[in-house]
Amino acid sequence: MTLSIPDQNKLDAFWSYCVKNQFFNIGYPESADFDYTLLERFMRFSINNCGDWSEYCNYLLNSFEFEKEVMQYFSELFKIPFEQSWGYVTNGGTESNMFGCYLGREIFPDGTLYYSKDTHYSVAKIVKLLRIKSQVVESLPNGEVDYNDLMAKIAKDNEKHPIIFANIGTTVRGAIDDIHIIQQRLKDAGFKREDYYLHADAALSGMILPFVDDPQGFTFADGIDSIGVSGHKMIGSPIPCGIVLAKKKNVDRISVEIDYISAHDKTITGSRNGHTPMMMWEAIKSHSFEDWQRRIARSLQMAQYAVDRLQSAGVNAWRNKNSITVVFPCPSEAVWKKHCLATSGEVAHLIATAHHLDSSKIDALIDDVIADAQTTAA
Ligand SMILES: *Cc1c(COP(=O)(O)O)cnc(C)c1O
Repeated sequence: MTLSIPDQNKLDAFWSYCVKNQFFNIGYPESADFDYTLLERFMRFSINNCGDWSEYCNYLLNSFEFEKEVMQYFSELFKIPFEQSWGYVTNGGTESNMFGCYLGREIFPDGTLYYSKDTHYSVAKIVKLLRIKSQVVESLPNGEVDYNDLMAKIAKDNEKHPIIFANIGTTVRGAIDDIHIIQQRLKDAGFKREDYYLHADAALSGMILPFVDDPQGFTFADGIDSIGVSGHKMIGSPIPCGIVLAKKKNVDRISVEIDYISAHDKTITGSRNGHTPMMMWEAIKSHSFEDWQRRIARSLQMAQYAVDRLQSAGVNAWRNKNSITVVFPCPSEAVWKKHCLATSGEVAHLIATAHHLDSSKIDALIDDVIADAQTTAA
């Protein structure tokens, strides 16, 4: 393959740009310390995972064997017997959440989906696409759902089959909805377990909580019906991807429904990426449990370091338990633009993802935030 000289130059310039900015990211949750060079040679194949890895497919170039092992891994991590689970490698957390909400709606076609104000913006979109009745619930100051408001809204709606969208690590504040409290409150209100659906959006924290000493509840053993995790966030990948895992018996219900229109297709898209399941596979095969523990402990320590430095300079920084997201008052535009920070209302955050092997980038940001706070206060 050859390109014209200007086109080749354009490509080379973009290469240099990518190399220079490879580890720029401090405001978004994408880890950049991955290495998939073992898989580079597969880029020449048109691998396509259309359909279901658990069934025969006569599109021979699929990576179903790898996808199956990825799902096996996550079923162990999220505490559901593999035979009782079904899930797949998605295009990202959004598709994973859409799949969870879709299952909830198929089980309770008239149910209302409840999600907090701090929920990722994709959920409002999913609600529109799936035409699910929905209610936005107030959040507590730390970003958790307001349990009283949740129950008040369910009661006011006289909702018999709520579909609960729980955040396991919100996008802005890294807050974790307490699914034990949610389930207890539902029980106190007279709901039986089979009366509601509970999806966990664990886009970032789904790959943090399994590796900490004192995790909040978020697994199937804790009561969830489905969970979505992004692959390009805590794990890291050059192509966005994610996983969704659900109870097989619930998935079988949608599979039966879909049988009327086509074969055993349970996934949302038709053609599916066959390379990303291999990336997830390589990531899990090349890291031991202890490797993840160390990697996540380092990120948590880096986040705490940032909180301590900002606080000791009088900046009101904080983070939720087991979160690598450090929240602080939004600095001036010049500062957040310079460091490509995500801002939301009054706050900004930095995310201590795994590629921050030393604190240099975090220190540079903190220096600017502190200087900025001192100028604006003066
Ligand atoms: C990033 C994120 C999503 C969306 O995930 P994508 O992989 O970007 O589609 C959903 N929920 C939360 C909490 C997120 O942080």
